[in-house]
Amino acid sequence: MSFSHLGLSEKVLAAVAATGYKTPTPIQDQAIPHVLARRDVLGIAQTGTGKTAAFVLPMLTMLETGRARARMPRTLILEPTRELAAQVEESFIKYGANHNKLNVALIIGGVSFDDQDAKLMRGVDVLIATPGRLLDHNERGRLLLSGVELLVIDEADRMLDMGFIPDIERICKLVPFTRQTLFFTATMPPEIRRITEQFLSNPVRVEVSKPATTVAATTQLLARSGRDGAEKRDTLRRLIRSAEGMKNAIIFCNRKRDVATLHRSLLRHGFSVQALHGDMDQSARTAALEQFRKNEVTLLVASDVAARGLDIPDVSHIYNFDVPIHADDYVHRIGRTGRAGRNGTAITIVAGSNDAKAVAAIEKLIGQTIPYMDKIPGTPAEPQHEPKHEPRHEQRHEPRNEPRNEPRQTARPPQRGGRHEHQRRPQQPERRPPSQQQPAPVARIEEARSRRAPPPVRKPMDDGDASHLPAFLLRPVTVKA
Ligand code: AMP
Repeated sequence: MSFSHLGLSEKVLAAVAATGYKTPTPIQDQAIPHVLARRDVLGIAQTGTGKTAAFVLPMLTMLETGRARARMPRTLILEPTRELAAQVEESFIKYGANHNKLNVALIIGGVSFDDQDAKLMRGVDVLIATPGRLLDHNERGRLLLSGVELLVIDEADRMLDMGFIPDIERICKLVPFTRQTLFFTATMPPEIRRITEQFLSNPVRVEVSKPATTVAATTQLLARSGRDGAEKRDTLRRLIRSAEGMKNAIIFCNRKRDVATLHRSLLRHGFSVQALHGDMDQSARTAALEQFRKNEVTLLVASDVAARGLDIPDVSHIYNFDVPIHADDYVHRIGRTGRAGRNGTAITIVAGSNDAKAVAAIEKLIGQTIPYMDKIPGTPAEPQHEPKHEPRHEQRHEPRNEPRNEPRQTARPPQRGGRHEHQRRPQQPERRPPSQQQPAPVARIEEARSRRAPPPVRKPMDDGDASHLPAFLLRPVTVKA
């Protein structure tokens, strides 16, 4: 089956053809005709299934008629993180290659309000936003959601994890009752089910699993290690050095602090490595991700929150430096490899009885036993072989039940006094002078294309928010069909 039977416009079909995609993925095949028929859609699908195009392609088709008015976006896409918002923007750039006059804007934390405000004033066809900053603009009276014809809530279970559900509920009440809603989630916990029942109107339910090849193509193994941080790092180094077919790897830690520690350690041991965690400022996060995507570095040490949902294709190895506390995080982590039918290897370091218990929970969840490696090649290093200037606290054993720095905030959403997204974050990035601010947050899609080639140097904001990514300065122009 090709894309042509889905009801997409010629312009969109031409852009899809230019990407080289020949066949719609199951979620695209099943969802796109319903989106075009203006039905609400409940899509149960993970990243990697092609779900972004499942809403971007029909949105582009529908937006070919009509025009945006000042401060009144026509469509709204909610994303839990700035990186995901930027990825969706990239999809609009890619698939909107023939929609030169389409106005796409990002409203995300960490970018100057004034710049965003000026751009909103010009009219926006597609507003891609993280919830907190969107509400900030709305509460300042600078953004009206009463013109939203279509609302996309993406990665809803991730929103739940991050404590965004109250914001989502508020936003759903601000957009017109008559809007069309597309709701995507990888899982359906009770809180998400409640939201879908409240805010979707007779939705078409489309459920897809990850391609079967993903799991089948990933070799999963466990590696025994001592519990001490230095021992674990030594085990990891031996695993990496002895890895077969290593192209690149993501190494997951449970805590942001350990991401930074492990990153420094690997650098000192001569590895080509970057780090990705929620306390890094946005320019550093973006640069790290770009370097990894472009194969400029081989290893990426990451926390779950920072890495979740990101489309990082073609990762050959996953290492769980820490056994994830939540079993579903394991599934998500190993889903980073073995993508698109490629072979992948996922190795989990097991250090002590608490780790073994966490592994048992994972095995129960995935319904299979993960074998231990017989022997990890290489000779275990003596503790003194750790580089001399390793911080002393790294040598200390940390109890496994210590709360990680990036908790799943499922129990209680954070209280919101103000509306800044950084107020939800457990830790804040350092402040930077205003001279290092972000480029204008909104631009015409043409400008976006021209800016795509080198990774832009994105500067953190003076408001201390960890978030920001570029967006685009747009002028309201009628889109020709
Ligand atoms: P997503 O689930 O939206 O994050 O998409 C995962 C990856 O699949 C992205 O790199 C997309 O560019 C890619 N993709 C989307 N649709 C297709 C398709 N029909 N055929 C092949 N790859 C696709």
